[in-house]
Amino acid sequence: MYFSEFQHLVDVYVNERDWKKYHKPKDIAISVAIESSELLELFQWKPDPLESGKLDRELKARIGEELADIVIYSACMANALDIDLSEVLLHKIKKNSRKYPAGKVAKAKDWDEIRSIRSKLSEKNGDD
Ligand SMILES: [Mg+2]
Repeated sequence: MYFSEFQHLVDVYVNERDWKKYHKPKDIAISVAIESSELLELFQWKPDPLESGKLDRELKARIGEELADIVIYSACMANALDIDLSEVLLHKIKKNSRKYPAGKVAKAKDWDEIRSIRSKLSEKNGDD
């Protein structure tokens, strides 16, 4: 499924329930943050789930559910503001690719070096 199809599917879902009247950007932004917190909660005060080398099936399913909630609310926000998610996702990954050129960052020894590469490129290109 293309992302544009998914975004349309979410729009249909919301319209069928007459929920557009509730979908103010402020409230959707709060909802994205809440769903992100629900994802974090799955890890709070627990050992690294991959410490044993294998992710528990139930935890993996719950992580997937929270990721889905985040993406669904993101699509709701995009629909509320008439943003083409496919377009902005493509734009953003291209922008990130310039910020973090694979040829340079793949050879970095750690995140400090990656941050340094990013900082130098940011100064050079005037990116944020
Ligand atoms: Mg949730």
